[in-house]
Amino acid sequence: MPRCAHSECPTWRVVQWARPGIHFDGEWFCSSTCLADVTTRRIEALRPPRIVRVPTMPPVRLGATLVAARSISAETLAHALQGQGTSGLRLGAQLLAMGAVDEATITHALARQSGVGFLTRIDPRSVRLTVAGLSRTVVQALGVVPLETERDGTLRIAAAAPLPRTAIAALQSGTGMRVRAYLVSDAVLEALLEAYGLDATPTPVSGVGRLTAVQAARRIADAATAGRAQTWQHTWGPGFAWVRLDGAFGPEDLIVAPSRTEKTWQVAVTQR
Ligand SMILES: [Zn+2]
Repeated sequence: MPRCAHSECPTWRVVQWARPGIHFDGEWFCSSTCLADVTTRRIEALRPPRIVRVPTMPPVRLGATLVAARSISAETLAHALQGQGTSGLRLGAQLLAMGAVDEATITHALARQSGVGFLTRIDPRSVRLTVAGLSRTVVQALGVVPLETERDGTLRIAAAAPLPRTAIAALQSGTGMRVRAYLVSDAVLEALLEAYGLDATPTPVSGVGRLTAVQAARRIADAATAGRAQTWQHTWGPGFAWVRLDGAFGPEDLIVAPSRTEKTWQVAVTQR
């Protein structure tokens, strides 16, 4: 005789005539409280994967790349390196501040360093609707912006240097799509992140927040109780778990801080 899936709950399903309970992820729970409790423990038990470092050639330095391409002279590079000592800027930003190069040249050089393509101009209005079902919440948490799905099913995204490999891997595992990154300047990325998903329905909640395991479990239990979700899965982004609820009305994304010390973080959730 099946019992509530909460190991410490004494409720047997024989009482189902009085309490229909909740069917979720192939299990039966007597109440949303039991489902939330079990889900909290499962989320708290999630552990991020160890980062496997792929051996790569050491990257060519930005300065050397720019000099080799004759974008700047060796003297200009020396000035910039000297200037960095007092400004504390990254080399690209320092050269921009000196007016030695334009943003497109820097982006091009950084893209060559990373072995990816680059885009200098993208209209932020082109991402005001969501792409590939990715919510504004997820996109802002990952810090990369989906641009479009290519004909072969590859997801084309915009990212800023240095290439955020963890975020790209999370997108790949979260969507099951092949992801092709294009480098853009910090300013272009910022404009895209600001515009992404603004015209999506329902209207996204502003601000990026992370949920604690307890808050996320509550959301999952509420969605299950309301019949909006049947199961959930997760993947890891940089410093957070991306929990995706699969339900009748499309996916619902939750960004969950794995650490127990971040319980006071602001809450923000959107549905796609
Ligand atoms: Zn129970």
